[in-house]
Amino acid sequence: MTTAAFLERFDSQSDWQRELYKDFHRHPEVSLDENATVQRIASELENMNLSVQHISETGLVAVIENGPGSTVLARADIDALPVSEDTGLDYASTIEGVMHACGHDMHITALLGAVRLLNENRDAWSGTYIALFQPAEENAAGARAMIDDGLTAKVPKPDIAFAQHVMPQPAGQIQTASGPVLSAGDSVRITVFGRGAHGSMPHLSVDPVVLAATIVLRLQTIVSRETEPGEFAVVTVGASNSGTKSNIIPDRAQLLLNLRTYDTAVRERIIASIERIVRGECAAAGSPRDPSFEYYDQFPLTDNPPESTDTVTAAFTDCFGAEVVRQASPATASEDFSEIPDAFGVPYVYWFVGSADPEKYRAAEEAGTVLTDIPANHSPQFAPVIDPTLELATKAQVVAALSYLGRT
Ligand code: ZN
Ligand code: ZN
Repeated sequence: MTTAAFLERFDSQSDWQRELYKDFHRHPEVSLDENATVQRIASELENMNLSVQHISETGLVAVIENGPGSTVLARADIDALPVSEDTGLDYASTIEGVMHACGHDMHITALLGAVRLLNENRDAWSGTYIALFQPAEENAAGARAMIDDGLTAKVPKPDIAFAQHVMPQPAGQIQTASGPVLSAGDSVRITVFGRGAHGSMPHLSVDPVVLAATIVLRLQTIVSRETEPGEFAVVTVGASNSGTKSNIIPDRAQLLLNLRTYDTAVRERIIASIERIVRGECAAAGSPRDPSFEYYDQFPLTDNPPESTDTVTAAFTDCFGAEVVRQASPATASEDFSEIPDAFGVPYVYWFVGSADPEKYRAAEEAGTVLTDIPANHSPQFAPVIDPTLELATKAQVVAALSYLGRT
Protein backbone atom coordinates (compact mmCIF):
# COMPACT_ATOMS: atom_id res chain seq x y z
CA MET A 1 0.00 0.00 0.00
CA THR A 2 1.34 3.44 -0.83
CA THR A 3 1.72 6.00 1.93
CA ALA A 4 -0.95 8.12 0.23
CA ALA A 5 -3.46 5.24 0.25
CA PHE A 6 -2.57 4.54 3.86
CA LEU A 7 -3.16 8.16 4.85
CA GLU A 8 -6.54 8.30 3.11
CA ARG A 9 -7.79 6.10 5.91
CA PHE A 10 -7.41 9.08 8.24
CA ASP A 11 -10.83 10.32 7.05
CA SER A 12 -12.58 7.36 8.65
CA GLN A 13 -11.29 8.30 12.10
CA SER A 14 -11.19 12.08 11.89
CA ASP A 15 -14.50 12.62 13.77
CA TRP A 16 -13.30 10.40 16.61
CA GLN A 17 -10.04 12.34 16.76
CA ARG A 18 -11.71 15.77 16.73
CA GLU A 19 -13.98 14.83 19.64
CA LEU A 20 -11.04 13.29 21.48
CA TYR A 21 -9.02 16.49 21.06
CA LYS A 22 -11.86 18.64 22.40
CA ASP A 23 -12.24 16.31 25.35
CA PHE A 24 -8.54 16.53 26.26
CA HIS A 25 -8.73 20.29 25.81
CA ARG A 26 -11.69 20.55 28.20
CA HIS A 27 -9.89 18.53 30.89
CA PRO A 28 -6.31 19.79 31.28
CA GLU A 29 -4.07 18.65 34.13
CA VAL A 30 -0.79 20.23 35.21
CA SER A 31 2.61 18.51 35.27
CA LEU A 32 2.77 15.27 37.29
CA ASP A 33 -0.96 15.44 37.99
CA GLU A 34 -2.08 13.95 34.66
CA ASN A 35 -4.08 11.09 36.20
CA ALA A 36 -7.37 11.45 34.32
CA THR A 37 -5.49 12.24 31.10
CA VAL A 38 -3.43 9.10 31.31
CA GLN A 39 -6.51 7.03 32.16
CA ARG A 40 -8.27 8.35 29.08
CA ILE A 41 -5.24 7.61 26.91
CA ALA A 42 -5.05 4.08 28.35
CA SER A 43 -8.73 3.42 27.66
CA GLU A 44 -8.40 4.65 24.06
CA LEU A 45 -5.43 2.31 23.55
CA GLU A 46 -7.28 -0.57 25.18
CA ASN A 47 -10.21 0.07 22.82
CA MET A 48 -7.69 -0.62 20.04
CA ASN A 49 -6.88 -3.95 21.73
CA LEU A 50 -3.44 -2.71 22.71
CA SER A 51 -1.97 -3.39 26.12
CA VAL A 52 -0.47 -0.48 28.00
CA GLN A 53 2.39 -0.19 30.46
CA HIS A 54 2.40 2.51 33.09
CA ILE A 55 5.94 3.82 33.47
CA SER A 56 6.40 6.39 36.25
CA GLU A 57 3.33 7.76 38.05
CA THR A 58 1.63 9.31 35.01
CA GLY A 59 3.65 8.03 32.03
CA LEU A 60 2.28 5.43 29.61
CA VAL A 61 3.61 3.28 26.79
CA ALA A 62 1.95 1.02 24.21
CA VAL A 63 4.04 -1.22 21.97
CA ILE A 64 2.84 -2.64 18.64
CA GLU A 65 5.00 -5.60 17.68
CA ASN A 66 4.42 -6.33 14.03
CA GLY A 67 7.12 -8.58 12.65
CA PRO A 68 10.73 -7.97 11.69
CA GLY A 69 12.11 -4.52 10.96
CA SER A 70 13.07 -1.30 12.66
CA THR A 71 11.76 -0.09 15.98
CA VAL A 72 10.31 3.41 16.11
CA LEU A 73 9.46 5.34 19.26
CA ALA A 74 7.09 8.31 19.06
CA ARG A 75 6.50 10.53 22.04
CA ALA A 76 3.68 12.89 22.96
CA ASP A 77 3.83 15.11 26.04
CA ILE A 78 0.54 15.24 27.93
CA ASP A 79 0.67 17.97 30.60
CA ALA A 80 -1.11 21.33 30.71
CA LEU A 81 -0.25 24.65 32.36
CA PRO A 82 -1.48 26.76 35.29
CA VAL A 83 -3.02 29.32 32.91
CA SER A 84 -6.63 30.58 32.90
CA GLU A 85 -8.03 30.01 29.42
CA ASP A 86 -9.29 33.05 27.56
CA THR A 87 -10.06 31.70 24.09
CA GLY A 88 -13.86 31.74 24.08
CA LEU A 89 -13.84 28.29 22.43
CA ASP A 90 -16.91 26.15 23.04
CA TYR A 91 -14.55 23.37 24.13
CA ALA A 92 -12.51 25.61 26.46
CA SER A 93 -11.03 24.26 29.68
CA THR A 94 -13.55 23.32 32.36
CA ILE A 95 -10.83 23.35 35.03
CA GLU A 96 -10.36 26.71 36.74
CA GLY A 97 -6.84 28.09 36.27
CA VAL A 98 -5.58 25.16 34.18
CA MET A 99 -5.31 25.13 30.40
CA HIS A 100 -3.74 23.14 27.57
CA ALA A 101 -1.95 26.36 26.61
CA CYS A 102 1.01 24.61 24.98
CA GLY A 103 -0.98 22.32 22.69
CA HIS A 104 0.06 19.04 24.29
CA ASP A 105 -3.57 17.91 23.87
CA MET A 106 -2.93 18.10 20.11
CA HIS A 107 0.21 15.98 20.50
CA ILE A 108 -1.68 13.31 22.49
CA THR A 109 -4.55 13.17 19.99
CA ALA A 110 -2.25 13.06 16.96
CA LEU A 111 -0.23 10.21 18.46
CA LEU A 112 -3.36 8.24 19.37
CA GLY A 113 -4.55 8.76 15.80
CA ALA A 114 -1.23 7.55 14.38
CA VAL A 115 -1.36 4.49 16.64
CA ARG A 116 -4.86 3.69 15.43
CA LEU A 117 -3.88 4.06 11.76
CA LEU A 118 -0.79 1.87 12.21
CA ASN A 119 -2.65 -0.68 14.31
CA GLU A 120 -5.57 -1.05 11.90
CA ASN A 121 -3.27 -1.31 8.89
CA ARG A 122 -0.67 -3.75 10.17
CA ASP A 123 -0.52 -5.41 6.77
CA ALA A 124 1.04 -2.22 5.36
CA TRP A 125 4.21 -2.16 7.49
CA SER A 126 6.56 -4.32 9.49
CA GLY A 127 8.57 -3.65 12.64
CA THR A 128 7.84 -2.37 16.12
CA TYR A 129 6.09 0.86 17.04
CA ILE A 130 6.33 2.32 20.52
CA ALA A 131 3.88 5.09 21.44
CA LEU A 132 5.10 6.92 24.51
CA PHE A 133 2.93 9.39 26.45
CA GLN A 134 5.17 11.53 28.62
CA PRO A 135 4.06 13.56 31.64
CA ALA A 136 5.55 16.79 32.96
CA GLU A 137 7.33 18.27 29.96
CA GLU A 138 6.67 21.79 31.23
CA ASN A 139 8.88 21.38 34.29
CA ALA A 140 11.42 19.05 32.68
CA ALA A 141 10.57 16.26 35.13
CA GLY A 142 8.60 13.78 33.01
CA ALA A 143 11.18 12.26 30.66
CA ARG A 144 13.50 11.88 33.65
CA ALA A 145 10.73 10.22 35.71
CA MET A 146 10.09 7.61 33.00
CA ILE A 147 13.80 6.91 32.57
CA ASP A 148 14.26 6.61 36.34
CA ASP A 149 11.37 4.13 36.41
CA GLY A 150 13.23 1.81 34.04
CA LEU A 151 11.93 2.90 30.62
CA THR A 152 14.96 1.58 28.73
CA ALA A 153 14.55 -1.90 30.23
CA LYS A 154 10.75 -1.99 29.84
CA VAL A 155 10.41 -1.36 26.11
CA PRO A 156 12.43 -2.56 23.09
CA LYS A 157 15.37 -0.33 22.16
CA PRO A 158 14.23 1.96 19.34
CA ASP A 159 16.29 2.73 16.23
CA ILE A 160 14.85 6.23 16.09
CA ALA A 161 12.67 8.49 18.24
CA PHE A 162 10.23 11.19 17.13
CA ALA A 163 8.45 14.10 18.75
CA GLN A 164 6.55 17.08 17.42
CA HIS A 165 5.25 20.38 18.75
CA VAL A 166 2.51 22.72 17.61
CA MET A 167 3.72 26.26 17.08
CA PRO A 168 2.08 29.62 16.27
CA GLN A 169 2.87 29.30 12.56
CA PRO A 170 0.25 28.78 9.84
CA ALA A 171 -1.69 25.53 10.18
CA GLY A 172 -1.00 23.24 7.24
CA GLN A 173 2.77 23.64 7.54
CA ILE A 174 5.43 21.36 9.00
CA GLN A 175 8.87 22.73 9.82
CA THR A 176 12.02 20.69 10.15
CA ALA A 177 15.72 21.49 10.51
CA SER A 178 18.97 19.70 11.26
CA GLY A 179 21.02 20.87 14.21
CA PRO A 180 19.77 22.79 17.23
CA VAL A 181 16.01 23.48 16.99
CA LEU A 182 15.27 24.14 20.65
CA SER A 183 17.59 25.69 23.18
CA ALA A 184 19.01 24.17 26.31
CA GLY A 185 17.28 25.76 29.29
CA ASP A 186 18.43 26.12 32.87
CA SER A 187 16.98 27.81 35.91
CA VAL A 188 19.22 28.90 38.78
CA ARG A 189 18.22 29.92 42.29
CA ILE A 190 20.98 32.09 43.76
CA THR A 191 21.02 33.08 47.40
CA VAL A 192 23.46 35.76 48.56
CA PHE A 193 24.00 36.63 52.20
CA GLY A 194 24.41 39.95 53.98
CA ARG A 195 24.14 41.08 57.57
CA GLY A 196 20.74 42.31 58.71
CA ALA A 197 20.38 45.59 60.60
CA HIS A 198 17.97 48.44 61.37
CA GLY A 199 17.26 50.50 58.30
CA SER A 200 18.51 53.60 60.13
CA MET A 201 21.93 52.00 60.81
CA PRO A 202 23.26 50.87 57.45
CA HIS A 203 26.86 51.00 58.73
CA LEU A 204 26.07 47.90 60.86
CA SER A 205 24.85 45.91 57.87
CA VAL A 206 26.09 44.16 54.77
CA ASP A 207 23.15 45.12 52.59
CA PRO A 208 22.04 42.17 50.39
CA VAL A 209 19.62 44.40 48.45
CA VAL A 210 22.48 46.53 47.14
CA LEU A 211 24.55 43.39 46.60
CA ALA A 212 21.77 41.73 44.56
CA ALA A 213 21.32 44.92 42.52
CA THR A 214 25.00 45.03 41.53
CA ILE A 215 24.83 41.33 40.61
CA VAL A 216 21.74 41.88 38.41
CA LEU A 217 23.54 44.66 36.52
CA ARG A 218 26.81 42.80 36.10
CA LEU A 219 25.02 39.64 34.91
CA GLN A 220 23.90 41.69 31.88
CA THR A 221 27.52 41.78 30.68
CA ILE A 222 27.68 37.99 30.22
CA VAL A 223 25.74 38.19 26.97
CA SER A 224 26.75 41.72 25.96
CA ARG A 225 30.50 41.57 26.75
CA GLU A 226 31.57 37.93 27.18
CA THR A 227 29.59 36.11 24.51
CA GLU A 228 30.77 36.27 20.91
CA PRO A 229 28.45 38.42 18.79
CA GLY A 230 26.29 36.07 16.74
CA GLU A 231 26.43 33.33 19.34
CA PHE A 232 23.03 32.71 20.90
CA ALA A 233 22.54 33.11 24.65
CA VAL A 234 19.84 34.43 26.97
CA VAL A 235 20.43 35.31 30.63
CA THR A 236 17.25 36.58 32.29
CA VAL A 237 16.85 37.53 35.93
CA GLY A 238 13.21 36.61 36.37
CA ALA A 239 12.91 37.34 40.08
CA SER A 240 14.80 39.32 42.69
CA ASN A 241 13.48 38.93 46.21
CA SER A 242 14.72 40.40 49.44
CA GLY A 243 13.38 42.05 52.53
CA THR A 244 9.98 42.72 54.07
CA LYS A 245 9.87 46.30 55.34
CA SER A 246 11.38 49.71 54.57
CA ASN A 247 13.24 50.05 57.87
CA ILE A 248 14.81 46.58 57.99
CA ILE A 249 17.93 45.69 56.08
CA PRO A 250 17.48 41.96 55.42
CA ASP A 251 20.18 39.33 55.76
CA ARG A 252 19.83 37.64 52.38
CA ALA A 253 18.55 38.06 48.83
CA GLN A 254 17.43 35.55 46.27
CA LEU A 255 17.69 35.79 42.47
CA LEU A 256 15.99 33.43 40.01
CA LEU A 257 17.72 33.21 36.65
CA ASN A 258 16.71 31.62 33.37
CA LEU A 259 19.33 30.66 30.77
CA ARG A 260 18.95 29.57 27.13
CA THR A 261 21.73 28.38 24.84
CA TYR A 262 22.21 26.35 21.62
CA ASP A 263 25.67 25.11 22.41
CA THR A 264 26.93 23.08 25.36
CA ALA A 265 30.25 24.95 25.48
CA VAL A 266 28.45 28.31 25.57
CA ARG A 267 26.15 27.01 28.29
CA GLU A 268 29.06 25.90 30.46
CA ARG A 269 30.86 29.20 29.96
CA ILE A 270 27.77 31.16 30.97
CA ILE A 271 27.26 29.11 34.11
CA ALA A 272 30.92 29.63 35.04
CA SER A 273 30.55 33.39 34.41
CA ILE A 274 27.44 33.60 36.61
CA GLU A 275 29.19 31.89 39.51
CA ARG A 276 32.31 34.03 39.06
CA ILE A 277 30.32 37.28 39.02
CA VAL A 278 28.18 36.35 42.02
CA ARG A 279 31.18 35.25 44.09
CA GLY A 280 33.12 38.35 43.03
CA GLU A 281 30.32 40.74 43.98
CA CYS A 282 29.82 38.92 47.31
CA ALA A 283 33.52 39.33 48.07
CA ALA A 284 33.39 43.01 47.10
CA ALA A 285 30.41 43.56 49.41
CA GLY A 286 32.03 41.77 52.34
CA SER A 287 29.35 39.09 52.40
CA PRO A 288 29.73 36.92 55.52
CA ARG A 289 28.81 33.63 53.83
CA ASP A 290 29.41 31.97 50.47
CA PRO A 291 26.51 32.32 48.04
CA SER A 292 24.52 29.22 47.11
CA PHE A 293 23.56 28.07 43.60
CA GLU A 294 20.72 25.66 43.00
CA TYR A 295 20.10 24.48 39.43
CA TYR A 296 16.60 23.28 38.54
CA ASP A 297 14.15 22.91 35.60
CA GLN A 298 17.07 21.90 33.40
CA PHE A 299 16.25 21.16 29.78
CA PRO A 300 18.77 19.58 27.41
CA LEU A 301 19.54 20.95 23.96
CA THR A 302 17.29 19.57 21.20
CA ASP A 303 19.79 19.03 18.40
CA ASN A 304 18.42 17.11 15.38
CA PRO A 305 21.02 14.77 13.84
CA PRO A 306 21.35 15.55 10.08
CA GLU A 307 20.93 11.98 8.81
CA SER A 308 17.65 11.11 10.54
CA THR A 309 16.31 14.62 9.91
CA ASP A 310 17.05 14.32 6.17
CA THR A 311 15.26 10.95 6.04
CA VAL A 312 12.13 12.28 7.72
CA THR A 313 12.15 15.60 5.84
CA ALA A 314 12.38 13.76 2.52
CA ALA A 315 9.47 11.51 3.52
CA PHE A 316 7.40 14.55 4.56
CA THR A 317 8.21 16.34 1.30
CA ASP A 318 7.34 13.27 -0.79
CA CYS A 319 4.04 12.88 0.95
CA PHE A 320 2.88 16.43 1.67
CA GLY A 321 4.77 18.47 -0.96
CA ALA A 322 7.40 21.18 -0.67
CA GLU A 323 4.72 23.82 -0.02
CA VAL A 324 3.87 22.18 3.29
CA VAL A 325 7.37 21.30 4.50
CA ARG A 326 9.41 24.36 5.48
CA GLN A 327 12.79 25.01 6.99
CA ALA A 328 12.50 25.60 10.74
CA SER A 329 14.47 28.30 12.46
CA PRO A 330 15.66 27.46 15.97
CA ALA A 331 13.22 28.41 18.73
CA THR A 332 14.36 29.68 22.11
CA ALA A 333 11.90 27.34 23.88
CA SER A 334 13.22 24.15 25.49
CA GLU A 335 12.16 20.48 25.77
CA ASP A 336 13.09 17.43 27.80
CA PHE A 337 12.19 14.98 24.99
CA SER A 338 15.82 14.38 23.92
CA GLU A 339 16.56 12.79 27.30
CA ILE A 340 14.56 9.77 26.08
CA PRO A 341 16.55 9.01 22.90
CA ASP A 342 19.72 9.94 24.80
CA ALA A 343 18.88 7.32 27.45
CA PHE A 344 18.68 4.69 24.69
CA GLY A 345 21.67 6.17 22.82
CA VAL A 346 19.67 6.59 19.59
CA PRO A 347 19.06 9.46 17.14
CA TYR A 348 15.84 11.44 16.98
CA VAL A 349 13.91 13.96 14.95
CA TYR A 350 11.90 16.79 16.48
CA TRP A 351 9.69 18.85 14.18
CA PHE A 352 7.16 21.68 14.41
CA VAL A 353 3.56 21.71 13.20
CA GLY A 354 1.82 25.01 12.44
CA SER A 355 -1.42 25.58 14.31
CA ALA A 356 -2.48 29.20 13.69
CA ASP A 357 -5.44 30.06 11.48
CA PRO A 358 -3.72 30.51 8.07
CA GLU A 359 -5.97 33.44 7.03
CA LYS A 360 -5.41 35.33 10.27
CA TYR A 361 -1.69 34.59 10.04
CA ARG A 362 -1.47 35.92 6.50
CA ALA A 363 -3.32 39.10 7.49
CA ALA A 364 -1.06 39.59 10.52
CA GLU A 365 2.01 38.99 8.38
CA GLU A 366 0.89 41.67 5.91
CA ALA A 367 0.22 44.09 8.76
CA GLY A 368 3.52 43.22 10.44
CA THR A 369 1.67 42.21 13.62
CA VAL A 370 2.35 38.47 13.86
CA LEU A 371 4.01 38.79 17.26
CA THR A 372 1.08 40.67 18.79
CA ASP A 373 -1.89 39.21 16.90
CA ILE A 374 -1.07 35.50 16.79
CA PRO A 375 -1.18 34.08 20.33
CA ALA A 376 1.84 31.88 21.04
CA ASN A 377 2.20 28.82 23.24
CA HIS A 378 1.55 29.52 26.96
CA SER A 379 -0.73 32.46 26.14
CA PRO A 380 -4.28 32.28 27.61
CA GLN A 381 -5.45 32.88 24.01
CA PHE A 382 -3.42 30.07 22.43
CA ALA A 383 -5.95 28.18 20.32
CA PRO A 384 -4.68 25.84 17.61
CA VAL A 385 -7.19 25.47 14.78
CA ILE A 386 -8.26 21.82 14.73
CA ASP A 387 -8.34 21.65 10.92
CA PRO A 388 -5.93 20.99 9.35
CA THR A 389 -3.57 20.90 12.37
CA LEU A 390 -4.83 17.61 13.77
CA GLU A 391 -4.81 15.84 10.42
CA LEU A 392 -1.30 16.99 9.53
CA ALA A 393 0.12 16.22 12.98
CA THR A 394 -1.39 12.72 12.84
CA LYS A 395 -0.15 12.05 9.33
CA ALA A 396 3.30 13.46 10.18
CA GLN A 397 3.69 10.83 12.91
CA VAL A 398 2.63 8.10 10.48
CA VAL A 399 4.84 9.28 7.61
CA ALA A 400 7.87 9.64 9.91
CA ALA A 401 7.27 6.13 11.28
CA LEU A 402 6.87 4.61 7.81
CA SER A 403 10.17 6.16 6.73
CA TYR A 404 11.83 3.69 9.12
CA LEU A 405 9.39 0.78 9.36
CA GLY A 406 9.68 -1.94 6.74
CA ARG A 407 7.01 -1.81 4.03
CA THR A 408 5.10 -4.89 3.02
ZN1 ZN B 1 5.08 24.64 27.00
ZN1 ZN C 1 4.95 22.34 24.99
